Amino acid sequence: MEKQYHDYMVRALAAKEQIRAFAVTSKDAVEYARSLHHSSPLSTAALGRLLSAGLMMGDMMKSEDDLVTLQLMGDGPLKHVLVTADYTGKVKGYVSNPNVYLPNKENGHLDIASGIGKGTLTVIRDYHMKEPYSSTIDLVSGEIAEDLTYYFAQSEQTPSSVGLGVLVNPDETVECAGGFIVQLMPFTSEEVIDQLQRNIDEFTSVTDVLKQGKTPEELLEIILKGFDIQFTGKKDVYFSCNCSQERGKQVISTLGSAEIRKMVEEGKDIEAECVFCGKKYKYTPEELEEILKELNENAAD
Ligand code: ZN
Repeated sequence: MEKQYHDYMVRALAAKEQIRAFAVTSKDAVEYARSLHHSSPLSTAALGRLLSAGLMMGDMMKSEDDLVTLQLMGDGPLKHVLVTADYTGKVKGYVSNPNVYLPNKENGHLDIASGIGKGTLTVIRDYHMKEPYSSTIDLVSGEIAEDLTYYFAQSEQTPSSVGLGVLVNPDETVECAGGFIVQLMPFTSEEVIDQLQRNIDEFTSVTDVLKQGKTPEELLEIILKGFDIQFTGKKDVYFSCNCSQERGKQVISTLGSAEIRKMVEEGKDIEAECVFCGKKYKYTPEELEEILKELNENAAD
C-alpha cells in the first residue's frame, strides 16, 4: 500500500545565502516511536519535537559516521528525553516516562514545559574519530524549540529561529509532526533580519501548517516569504535503531565487573531491553562470563 506522504527533510539557502534553513516532516517516525514506547500524547509530543530537531541537526553534521545527541533532563514527570540522529536521516530516541498525563494549557495545547520542568539541554556533536563536542545550557522554557534557539545563540553563536510541533489525534496516534530551523549567517543585513522577524511574528505554528497537508518546502516558503529560496538538499528520514545482540554486550559491560559477576553467580539467563526500540535480547550465564572476561582483559591492558 502506498503511503499518503512519507517523512523527509529539506535544506535551503535564502536571501543570497544570508539565511540557511532546514525543515522536516516526521509524522511516520514520531508515530513509529509512539507505537514502540506506547506513549501518552504529552510524552509523544515531547519526544516527537526532540526527534524532529535531532533530524535537522543531524543534517548539519559533516559525514555519514557523525552523530548528534540531544538530551533533555528535567525535574518534571517526563524526567529525561534523549534523541540520537545521524547525517543520513536516521533517528532514534526515548522518553524515560512515556506515560505522563497533565492538564492541557489554557490554549488547549499539551503542556510540554510542565512535563519537562526545570533542567538542562545537552547537545553532543560526535564527529567520527574526533573528541565529541558537548555543550549544556539551562532550559529557558521547556517547550524545546525556544530552548534550542537559546542553545544555538549561546553555544554556537548562531542567531536562529526554531519551530517544532507534534499534533496528536484523539486516539493518541500522531496526526502530524515536524519542524524548521532558520539560521542567520554572520553577514546578514538588518533588512533581511527585519523581514524574517516579521515573517516569524506572522507565523502561526508548525502543526497548523502541516495539518493542512503542506510539505517541508512549503513550510519554508511561508517562513522565508519575500526571499529568494534555493533548495539545496532533500533526504528521507526514518526512526531506526541499530541495536543488536553484540551491541547489547557493550551496554552490559558498562555495568562493571562486580555487577556482572553477581549475575553470573545467579546462574540465570538475563534479558536486556533496548531503551530506544524495546527489542529484547537474552544473555546466558556463559555469555555474561565471556563479557566479564573481556572486561577484565581490557582493564589489564
Ligand atoms: Zn533498539
